[in-house]
Amino acid sequence: MNEPMPDRADTAFQEKLNQRLRFYEDLGLGLFYRDRRTSGIQSTAPAIAETSSTLIEESILPKSAAKPTASAPANKLPSLPSAAAVPSLFEATSKIAGDTLPIIRTDLGECTRCKLHTTRNKIVFGDGSSKAELVFIGEGPGADEDAQGLPFVGRAGKLLTQMIEAMGLQRQQVYICNVVKCRPPGNRQPEKDEVDACSPFLFRQLDALKPKVIVCLGATAAQTLLQTNRGISHFRGEWLEYRGYKMIATYHPAYLLRNPAAKGDVWKDLQKVMAELGLEIKKNKAK
Ligand code: SF4
Repeated sequence: MNEPMPDRADTAFQEKLNQRLRFYEDLGLGLFYRDRRTSGIQSTAPAIAETSSTLIEESILPKSAAKPTASAPANKLPSLPSAAAVPSLFEATSKIAGDTLPIIRTDLGECTRCKLHTTRNKIVFGDGSSKAELVFIGEGPGADEDAQGLPFVGRAGKLLTQMIEAMGLQRQQVYICNVVKCRPPGNRQPEKDEVDACSPFLFRQLDALKPKVIVCLGATAAQTLLQTNRGISHFRGEWLEYRGYKMIATYHPAYLLRNPAAKGDVWKDLQKVMAELGLEIKKNKAK
């Protein structure tokens, strides 16, 4: 009796699917597919969409614009990039049970996922307490960080340490990381494809840490978490929400080195964070 021949189209599709799965598993996303297989794509999609729109409403939009009305439905808001309306793969995979910083570091490996790997010396994964209630996120490593493999250890890092100590904390009590983990050449801004490749690991770090407060240092960090290209001046110093975590954006310490007059604004922002964390605010620590 003849065996039935496999359908060529099915075989090609299966191979394509396998390739895609291998790519995602390379990013540490195996659990995503197990979850999706057991829970079903149809049943999870509405929940994801709701989470995404809630994020948009609570993070960027003025309250008056957040709620859908008959004349302006929520899914047709003009000022937001389309990426915000569609949950990313990593939004869908958020809060992987049992994910830890060492597991995420292992998944990252000697990463070559974007072109920044060609010029880096050391990956700068992040540094600080795995139990930190407060997380600072910068843009990317500079020359000193690239050499040492640690975040914020150059001039801007020293200023950040002073800011943390002015809050009544030690640097070891917080967690510090960046949007991209390899130094962009010449300290240029990371490009979109680099942020897209690297930020999923940042998202996993945040979910593993579950901080009370996230402080975004500079526009790149805030824009990455909020999935917006709005300038930081639109939301600096405002309480926002990133997937259930309270977050606030303030100026990057490197900006403060060039513009010391902005230190007062940053201190006001950090005082809000201190109040949220129940830290004592002493007026003489303002500078
Ligand atoms: S920046 Fe991130 S994604 Fe790019 S090579 Fe470095 S670790 Fe990998």
